[in-house]
Amino acid sequence: MNPGLQYPIFGPEINCPHCRKAIPALTLTDTYLCSRHGAFEANPDTKELIHLPSGRRWRLWDDTWYRQHTHPDGIRFEIHEALDRLYTEGYKATKVIIANRYKDLVSSYLERSYPWRDSNETKSPKLYGLPVIFSPESKEDPRWEIINFSLEKEPGVPLRYPYFRLFE
Ligand SMILES: [Zn+2]
Repeated sequence: MNPGLQYPIFGPEINCPHCRKAIPALTLTDTYLCSRHGAFEANPDTKELIHLPSGRRWRLWDDTWYRQHTHPDGIRFEIHEALDRLYTEGYKATKVIIANRYKDLVSSYLERSYPWRDSNETKSPKLYGLPVIFSPESKEDPRWEIINFSLEKEPGVPLRYPYFRLFE
């Protein structure tokens, strides 16, 4: 018997997506148990890890868990956190690339600038004041089936920092 079959799809141990602590699989189940965050269940068909108490779902890419969002606030908050982290590392973001699979979910929440308001700007969607584009289809680049967004960045301090509003 293949010993791998006794473990859920992610193996005998994973890092908890919440606290990143190594947590063990329970023998002969698809469940991992974090002493702080409770039970996570691996779904062998969708390759998802589901936090049973909350229903939150993650997928794994390059040893990192990516939360699979079902509400625009979830991904907006995650982008906000990443922008904040960039700032503390001495970078400013110049563009946000959001996974194509979230297009329908987030489109109506993005800020838009209209040509009749500002003739220099085309009608391009923005988030926290930054231009937003959507990723290629995951057929072209499979990581976009799992990861949520990517930030283009350059060294420096942003001129405007609208995304600090949350902390004021
Ligand atoms: Zn945990």
